[in-house]
Amino acid sequence: MEKRVYIETYGCQMNEHDTERILRLLEGAHYLETKNAQEADFILINTCSVREKAEHKVYSALGRYKWLKEKKGAMIGVAGCVAQQEGDRLLDRIPYLDMVIGTHAIPMLPQLLQKIEVSGERVCETSFDPEGIYLKTILPQEPLHKVKSYVTIMQGCDHFCSFCIVPYVRGREQSRPSREIIEEVERLVEMGVKEVCLLGQNVNGYGKGLKEEISFSELLHRVNEIEGLDRIRFTTSHPKDLSAELIRSFSKLKKLCEHIHLPFQSGSDKILKAMHRGYTKESYLDKINRLKKVCPSMAVTSDVIVGFPGEEEKDFEETLDLIQKVRFDDLFSFKYSPRKGTRAAQFTEKVEEKVKQNRLSVLQGIQKEITLQKNQEWEGRVEEVLVEGRSRQSDQDVTGRTRSNKIVNLEGDLSWVGKLVPVRVNKASPHSLRGRIVNSGSTCSPQCLLCQSG
Ligand code: SAM
Ligand code: SF4
Repeated sequence: MEKRVYIETYGCQMNEHDTERILRLLEGAHYLETKNAQEADFILINTCSVREKAEHKVYSALGRYKWLKEKKGAMIGVAGCVAQQEGDRLLDRIPYLDMVIGTHAIPMLPQLLQKIEVSGERVCETSFDPEGIYLKTILPQEPLHKVKSYVTIMQGCDHFCSFCIVPYVRGREQSRPSREIIEEVERLVEMGVKEVCLLGQNVNGYGKGLKEEISFSELLHRVNEIEGLDRIRFTTSHPKDLSAELIRSFSKLKKLCEHIHLPFQSGSDKILKAMHRGYTKESYLDKINRLKKVCPSMAVTSDVIVGFPGEEEKDFEETLDLIQKVRFDDLFSFKYSPRKGTRAAQFTEKVEEKVKQNRLSVLQGIQKEITLQKNQEWEGRVEEVLVEGRSRQSDQDVTGRTRSNKIVNLEGDLSWVGKLVPVRVNKASPHSLRGRIVNSGSTCSPQCLLCQSG
């Protein structure tokens, strides 16, 4: 008999993608997705522990679903980074919780569910998988009805930045064999996918520990050869490991989009050292210059942390200076959040909450203006847009993205979904662009919808 699963996802793309993988896996065990928790036989909270705020959300989500366990007998589970970090402690703390499933244990989910169903036992599985079997993806059987997809190429991280919990909850770097990745992308393309985003905490580390000798740039070259695929993106790249070969790939590979997410975290060399990032402000700026030299239209986004222990006003000024120098297309900014078990959590020179908040507001104000100005630079240009679906703003509009990853809304037809269309950008706003389809093939690719139809 078919059952229903409801998954609530917190955190990064990695978690979003894990949720997709879990849903595919559970389909095989006759659990189909529901978007309504009240219909669910199994409720799974896929968690993030990168910052304290994200971790707290897990406990309030669990509190929200307690009554569904009590009144309807739904099973409740926690997956992801908090599950990995807390393990059995979660079962002790939350008496109505049935399952804790760590980041490497996803493939065991159907068996664990069965165990609970049969025995009524509560289960916790958080062991790490040294063989990397957990990285295997179940390939989709049905058309996906989507234009773009994530593809995990590696997991874990060996960097141990002093603020970061990821290496502890995701384990050491493990790469998937290239053959598996290529097969997955080919299958996705057969199912209608036009754009893939290759996922890893540190994609530049791809290939380490594999039997084959392959670098991340070589993998990109192979994915670029796949017929029917239009676009390739990747995330995340560590500035220290951004190789000259990878920078050159942006000029060589037609399908590789002109956008890079390159987290810098701080503009102060003192703070970068304490963070154990392995680069300086100058070397970060040098990498950006090299990227822009190879590809002048490159869009750059980044992550930054304010209020790291020991951050003085002059360090924060360095961060603002870096922001003004690079002029990021967009920036994800966070207040430092101490994570138990990381080295920085022991650092004593804490920055007051009030100061952190103030620095964050100043930084976000500056970036907001830069983002708008960067978007305005696209006004008047004709850009290739991959149409993804109906716009949320209007039934007359479709939405898509440029190669530089800008959202574009335009009046259009749903038959354009999955097609590349040339769009003249008329108006920029802080979060998106507005445009109109044009008939000239000035920036068209061979797959362009209008050019094909003559
Ligand atoms: N692997 C990526 C890299 O090397 O930059 C980052 C992965 S992490 C999940 C995403 C972002 O969360 C980081 O770039 C950092 O800005 C932020 N972050 C991580 N730990 C944090 C902490 N303890 N406090 C605040 N922000 C944090
Ligand atoms: Fe965390 Fe640093 Fe690894 Fe990124 S590179 S996941 S910030 S430890």
